[in-house]
Amino acid sequence: MDDKCEKNSSFFYSKCVLCPRRCGVDRRVSRGYCASGDVPVVNISMIHKGEEPPISGGGGSGAVFFEGCSLGCPFCQNYKISHRARIHAAGGTAGDPAGKAVTSGELVRIFYDLQEKGADNINLVTPMHFAPDVAAAMELARSGGFDLPFIINCGGYENVETVRLFDGLADIWLPDFKFLDPKVSSALVNVSDYGETAVAAIDEMVRQTGPLVYDDRGLIRRGVIIRHLMMPSCLFDTKKIIDTIWERWGDTVALSLMNQYTPMPQLQSMKGADPRLMRKLDPRHYRAAVDHLLILGKQNVFLQEDASGDEMIPDFI
Ligand code: SF4
Repeated sequence: MDDKCEKNSSFFYSKCVLCPRRCGVDRRVSRGYCASGDVPVVNISMIHKGEEPPISGGGGSGAVFFEGCSLGCPFCQNYKISHRARIHAAGGTAGDPAGKAVTSGELVRIFYDLQEKGADNINLVTPMHFAPDVAAAMELARSGGFDLPFIINCGGYENVETVRLFDGLADIWLPDFKFLDPKVSSALVNVSDYGETAVAAIDEMVRQTGPLVYDDRGLIRRGVIIRHLMMPSCLFDTKKIIDTIWERWGDTVALSLMNQYTPMPQLQSMKGADPRLMRKLDPRHYRAAVDHLLILGKQNVFLQEDASGDEMIPDFI
């Protein structure tokens, strides 16, 4: 089965257009923007208790963190994992721990290991640049009777065709919806089409899963939770994003409104980083965004209690 997966994957990697950057490189011998090769690299797998309550509120979420990222936000909180390949390609070092290249079969063993540790779901974090192999591993696990829900936890800047590789395999999509205004996304992550791309990708995710479904413990079994991390001095864009979510998908999807933006240490040495990235979020902006949700009447919302905390509060308003 691994051989079959590898053959199938090389079709995608030999001229890679898996993400909207569409580098067109042969990842078996070269590197595109994500600096990733043609074999998935898992940096760490662990029981994660810090996700939204319906994801990690039971025994915890079985998180599998992949190295590399095709969007590559400079402010990333997982910078050493998501940028590791790029840092090394530029001759730098990202420190420990280093990741491990895995076959689809080894990924399946990681899924079972997390299940044995009590995970209520398998949470695949930033897997889209390895989508063919990850989808193959999910299919392999399912065909062997593995029955925990699969979550695809991604940055939102995704090709619809790549999202479709998970059709029938992903139970839960957990995409970011970071920006809408092209000027904001250009300034903060250097892509002008983030907003329109995320909307099309989330349309496909909603089509795949349908509305939210919970089990009798209140854990999510199916559906889409959209995460929006509020950026400093960008309340206007947050409001537009909330409006778009409400008008397009209503309460079919949940919105996790996050206020924990923190200027990360890597920003200090980055030339040309937007000054907004060096600030913290104004708590009044978070309250204004919550008020905006109240006025609209959106019910399926997760809010955070304070700007410094990690804990997600399932406060349906
Ligand atoms: S996945 Fe990587 S190589 Fe492929 S198009 Fe995106 S950035 Fe380029």
